[in-house]
Amino acid sequence: MKFRAPVSKNETYDVTIMDLTYQGMGVAKIDSFPIFVANSLPGEEIVMKVTKVAKTYAFGRVMEWKSKSPDRVEDKDAQYTQTGIAPLQHLAYPAQLEFKQHQIQELFYKVHLNSVEVSPTIGMDKPYGYRNKAQIPVRSVNGQLTTGFYRRNSHDLVPMEDFYIQDPEIDKAIVVVRDILRKYHTAPYNEENHTGVIKTIMVRRGHYSHEMMIVLITRAKKIPMNFEITEEIRKQLPEVKSIIQNVNAAQTNVLMGKEEKILWGSAVIHDTLLGQNFAISADSFYQVNPVQTEKLYELAIKKAGLTGNETVIDAYCGIGTISLAMAQHAKTVYGVEIVDKAIQDAKINAKLNKIHNVKFFTGKAEEQMDKWQHDGLEPDVIVVDPPRKGLATEFITAATAMTPKKVVYVSCNPSTLVRDVQLFMENGYHVDQPVVPIDQFPQTPHVESVTVLVKD
Ligand code: SAH
Repeated sequence: MKFRAPVSKNETYDVTIMDLTYQGMGVAKIDSFPIFVANSLPGEEIVMKVTKVAKTYAFGRVMEWKSKSPDRVEDKDAQYTQTGIAPLQHLAYPAQLEFKQHQIQELFYKVHLNSVEVSPTIGMDKPYGYRNKAQIPVRSVNGQLTTGFYRRNSHDLVPMEDFYIQDPEIDKAIVVVRDILRKYHTAPYNEENHTGVIKTIMVRRGHYSHEMMIVLITRAKKIPMNFEITEEIRKQLPEVKSIIQNVNAAQTNVLMGKEEKILWGSAVIHDTLLGQNFAISADSFYQVNPVQTEKLYELAIKKAGLTGNETVIDAYCGIGTISLAMAQHAKTVYGVEIVDKAIQDAKINAKLNKIHNVKFFTGKAEEQMDKWQHDGLEPDVIVVDPPRKGLATEFITAATAMTPKKVVYVSCNPSTLVRDVQLFMENGYHVDQPVVPIDQFPQTPHVESVTVLVKD
């Protein structure tokens, strides 16, 4: 029998929104068939028009609200939802925090871990203007070099100057750089023909240091008039300490290429986290929300329960921010990270802060853990802060075989967190209550949290 969806494209339906997805879309159901509707919130009664029907779900658009959620706040700008920069902007901030707490809680319930408690989300006093890094595509719009952001699920550039969740000084810098590129007739990248010079402007700004790095990511090896462009950037943006060209001639979604030239100044900028100084290079990972990162690290340190005698492993250590923060409270810290440039930064950062009880290694965390285990390393605490895909099974096998007293799991993806926690539980660990969400990405549905696993 052929399956027939209970809804048809372009038809309208009266529905009540039941749920909110991880992407921040409202969910309505007709005969158990889910329809995802942007800009709608749980409890809202709406008239919805179906815009697309797939096999197991459909998309719809709000035509009219019959009732609105008490948690709804006015949009700052429809473009922030269109582009996906701030897909939760219509949800009041306290409700965003609850949404994130419930997301994690629900995922634990789903696998019948009903005893795992998730505490309220630690939020921000000022939940906007927080990002210390921007990656802004450059394209031609109406024949003019333009900066902005892509419309969701497309590569159409929506011109934009105020990005709402970014440090406003970064927003200003992007406009300045854009105008300089316009002045020198730099050709914006054309994705269809794979022509043009400049693809992306990346800006990083130290929250405390106010040091700024500008990275011009280009298709072409040469930027015509690059000397004049660099001079003007320096003159107009006195905070700039580093101007870098990164060449990425490939036609991929990967942002940065391998070839990097310093056009002016230093290869790194510096910033401070919990009073320690960090050198950050263009392609190293550095947490984007400095205010919340300090709360996150403080919590991770407290939960690790360090007394000064412990051996600690910081897996996925980036430029060594967690390692160095923990080193002050531990005997020895071992860090491992896959990006060699980040490890080089980490070593410089240890020197910069006069910390001698850390050792950094470049490599895959899962392989290094295996090596350490075979070498007989006996960590008391393992800290992990993996990317969205979470931990490899081999990682968990090696980690639990080393029988640390505690594993502090910093997660940016609750689905893989819950999957991995189950594996730890099968290997003799239990969750030290509660799991604590920390809002690193206000106005977006991203959920960060700290979970502590303790040896049974
Ligand atoms: N703890 C750091 C970085 C966390 S982000 C901080 O708070 O700043 C995750 C890091 O894991 C990134 O630096 C990324 O380069 C690294 N990474 C990704 N896959 C990895 C793997 N298989 N092994 C080791 N590191 C990896």
